[in-house]
Amino acid sequence: MAVGFETDIQYLKGIGEKRAQLFRKLGITTAGELIAHYPREYIDLTQPTPAAAAPVGQQAAIRATVTGKSGEQRIRKGLSVFKVQAVDEEGIRLSITFFNAKFTVDKLQAGQEYLFYGQVGGTLLKKELSAPLVFTLQEAQELIPVYPLTAGLTSRMVAGAVRQALGALLEQVQEPLPSAIRVQHNLCHLQYAVENIHFPAQRQNMLLARRRLIFQELFTLTLALSAVRSTKGMEAAVRLAPADLSDFIASLPFPLTGAQLRAVGEITADLAGPAPMNRLLQGDVGSGKTVVAACACVFAAKNAAQAALMAPTEILAAQHHQTMQKLLGPFGIRTALLTGSTKAAEKRRIKEQLAAGEIDLVVGTHALLSSGTEFARLALVITDEQHRFGVGQRIALGQKGGAPHTLVMSATPIPRTLALMIYGDLDLSVIDTMPVGRLPVKTYAIDSAKRQRAFGFIQKHLDAGYQAYIVCPLVEPGEQDTAGLISAADYARQLQEKEFSAYRVGLLHGRMKAAEKEETMLRFKNGEIDLLVATTVIEVGVDVPGAVIMLIENAERFGLSQLHQLRGRVGRGNVQSYCILLSDSKGLDARARLNTMCRTTSGFAVAEEDLRLRGPGDFFGQRQHGLPQFALADLSTDVALLESARTAAEELLTADPGLALPEHRLLREQVEQMLRAIGSRPN
Ligand code: ADP
Ligand code: MG
Repeated sequence: MAVGFETDIQYLKGIGEKRAQLFRKLGITTAGELIAHYPREYIDLTQPTPAAAAPVGQQAAIRATVTGKSGEQRIRKGLSVFKVQAVDEEGIRLSITFFNAKFTVDKLQAGQEYLFYGQVGGTLLKKELSAPLVFTLQEAQELIPVYPLTAGLTSRMVAGAVRQALGALLEQVQEPLPSAIRVQHNLCHLQYAVENIHFPAQRQNMLLARRRLIFQELFTLTLALSAVRSTKGMEAAVRLAPADLSDFIASLPFPLTGAQLRAVGEITADLAGPAPMNRLLQGDVGSGKTVVAACACVFAAKNAAQAALMAPTEILAAQHHQTMQKLLGPFGIRTALLTGSTKAAEKRRIKEQLAAGEIDLVVGTHALLSSGTEFARLALVITDEQHRFGVGQRIALGQKGGAPHTLVMSATPIPRTLALMIYGDLDLSVIDTMPVGRLPVKTYAIDSAKRQRAFGFIQKHLDAGYQAYIVCPLVEPGEQDTAGLISAADYARQLQEKEFSAYRVGLLHGRMKAAEKEETMLRFKNGEIDLLVATTVIEVGVDVPGAVIMLIENAERFGLSQLHQLRGRVGRGNVQSYCILLSDSKGLDARARLNTMCRTTSGFAVAEEDLRLRGPGDFFGQRQHGLPQFALADLSTDVALLESARTAAEELLTADPGLALPEHRLLREQVEQMLRAIGSRPN
């Protein structure tokens, strides 16, 4: 019988009914599914370690000649032990123990050389291996695939079955990707990929195969999501005409960076289009997202349409309002601030003006705008620091006034935003360069023995006319002090009385009234406060370019991305800035986090490290519902490939929107399969 993709695996040579049963437990019933069962890792036997150098306690591949075997020793019922002696090229003796492995041991021949792969034990002169995998020299010339298994199956059995299936099927594997895309993105042929994901001769071949297969998964997903999106076919609530922003851009106190201009271009192109924009603006802390948002607001205003800008905290809302007023005011754009602490009468007046179209831009916190605010002509909703909001909130907002254009701004590169990109189906603009002249923040980790020296360093900068932050962990006044922490209020008082008696010390924490917070921030911004002692209320978005030092107390209590956000409050001008992480913690995790912070200032690197330290399970676990299980792709690490796949998908859909061309038939089938997997189908 000719073997095809649909052939039941029990008809493959060497797989009987019984073994087929085991494969079914892995979700494999057909030959096609079998070859899509990819190894989870590979053992590299191409560079064996000399026994003398094999590190005790680690896995190693050792090449050695068998010199003798002891007979089977029955320890108890169901447990037999076999001892095998071997010696390597340098004459180092190897003692190998096998358990219940009569078949393997019987096959070993004295005088023959093999590769043994397993956990190394013993001493320098006599090494031990316990229950290693055994390979002939012939086998050892390739990488050995290690498959996900179920009890009763060994990796070797799976490999054998896959080899059978591949022998019959490989020639029948057809290439779904258009060759132009393969050439442009350097992707190998699918046949090569399928063969080399299982049996690569070298690591390099496996990586090529992997890259190709991951691309295909992400490409198909993107095509499927576009299919869903295009069926929605929504019109923007307010149609905007192209507008010239050059006068506004010329009025800014600095030239926009290339990356900012590119983002503005992408956004305005969306705004002038018929469909509502749904775009994520991503840029590291301090990269200058606010001014890009301002451009979008000007675009709306030039169309006599309204915009709303949402911030996660009142402090940030107030700051944004101030910035927008300064930048947009000269262009006759009317702005208002609407937060939880806006007085009732004022609130009513602003709402009336919004409904009458007498305000062009309202800046506020989230809660407020979702509660009964009417707009005359709302065209654009911008959400800052999106990672702070839930997806539900964003959807609720998107429903305001029909379908406004939405722009989401975030400093978090992965993984949350990536999830959103897929959930929320966002387009992406990236600000990937910092404004000219920025110096990376120098970061140091110290312990409390050096606190006074750090204070001296801060004083020196205050004397030079700069400002500083001291950040304390979450203890607010009146809160229980459980870990020897001191509240920000007490700490500020102490500092004002002692080390910083010659300076103006300010205090900012979450329990203060909004008006008080705003006033303190304003005074800090205006240089009336030298040293601001704060809790993490300043974590997000606060922009005071004159502040050049941040000292973080009990730095071990903060997560990596939080530390990165905090540090982002300094280094916002062209002066060398510093971040001092104070901690007496000896914990390994804490040390790893602080070291990461000292090593890198890139938000991307910090996020990757965060992911590594916390493990991927924390990020893309089961919460990722709605998305299919990927065989190979990992949305948190394959970011670059996802981007290429998205670009390729967009280009392809422009050329052939319905994938109707005959050469796209295979691809269309894959997309349909993906649509079934994500539980949606185009209507
Ligand atoms: P974030 O992306 O973190 O929101 P901001 O928009 O607050 O960053 O910008 C950080 C600082 O950089 C602000 O003080 C802003 O005025 C300044 N800035 C923004 N763009 C530029 C630029 N092109 N050149 C110089 N400074 C800029
Ligand atoms: Mg910001």
